[in-house]
Amino acid sequence: MIPVTKPYLPDREKLDKYLDGIYERQWLTNNGQLVQELTRRLEDYLGVENLLLVANGTLALQIAYRALGVSGNRSVRPPEAITTPFTFIATASSLKWDGVEPIFADIDPDSWCLAPENIEAKITANTRAIVPVHVFGNACDVEAINAIAQKHCLKVIYDASHAFGVTYKGESLLKHGDAATLSFHATKLFHTGEGGAIVFKHKKDLERAKKMINFGITGPETIEELGVNAKMSELQAAMGLSVLEEISEAIKGRRRVWKSYEEKIPENIKSQKRNVHSSNNYSYFPILTDAVKAIRILGDLKENNFLARRYFYPSLDLGGPFFCPSSRKVSSSIVCLPFYHDLSSESVEKICKLLKEGS
Ligand SMILES: *Cc1c(COP(=O)(O)O)cnc(C)c1O
Repeated sequence: MIPVTKPYLPDREKLDKYLDGIYERQWLTNNGQLVQELTRRLEDYLGVENLLLVANGTLALQIAYRALGVSGNRSVRPPEAITTPFTFIATASSLKWDGVEPIFADIDPDSWCLAPENIEAKITANTRAIVPVHVFGNACDVEAINAIAQKHCLKVIYDASHAFGVTYKGESLLKHGDAATLSFHATKLFHTGEGGAIVFKHKKDLERAKKMINFGITGPETIEELGVNAKMSELQAAMGLSVLEEISEAIKGRRRVWKSYEEKIPENIKSQKRNVHSSNNYSYFPILTDAVKAIRILGDLKENNFLARRYFYPSLDLGGPFFCPSSRKVSSSIVCLPFYHDLSSESVEKICKLLKEGS
């Protein structure tokens, strides 16, 4: 079976060298040398400051909410955050888990990102933040979202789990928002097995978050904050450093697969409308058909040993008090095709042939 995605495994000797260092130092976690090195190298590669490595992308979101005061402040009414229903469950469940009510506003039917024009109507006296997602690495309308946030004194936390390395108007997309979070899960473009990071706009928020990811401990006998354990380990950093050394190869492979799909895909099949200011990191290959065809395509592909998936299904507004028609429509008509750095051209050809026959 050809999977929908596959983790990138770096050269084993490279990884072994980092592991040898861990054995020599006998230092496995707690802001070790490799975590520090990966932090520096990622800041450099991404062109950002104030980057904090954490244990996974979900904790990255939760620590960002805490550090920015969106969650954790008890009040009579629960705080609210306006977010998108077209995303992986963790964007919304992390809010709820932290006592923040996710309020869903609908997406743009073409870019599939949270539509700025749907945000303001959802703002109440309890709204503290906007949590948009750069879906499939496509930049949100960051300027419009920023203007709304400024006007209403709201924090903006971008779930940038898909946006590793994406630039916006020539600079890192991660510079937008009070914080942007990344997931380094095994299936993501850049990964550390499990892992994640937060890029903060302000150094003071980074400093607060640093305490929070280590139980609030700041010295041998001092605890300054309420914290949790969200630290990245040296083993995760070793994987990350090894993958980062090969990231341009990984992206080159993905670009090749992307171009190959673009050439062969039937013309009637729609794709995501990409923000003209946003670079492409080739993280996913989603196509849009209709709800009936999507199911048929998944079945046809599966019969031929290709595993495609409806990402993200179901739309998260289902079963709640919200109704986001564009998200529901995209969610039920989308198919993410198999996509990873060394997917063969023959596979792409076969997949496109099946799409043509089915449409
Ligand atoms: C992967 C992902 C997450 C969760 O990241 P983990 O590292 O798996 O915790 C959150 N949001 C989005 C949009 C994701 O794709």
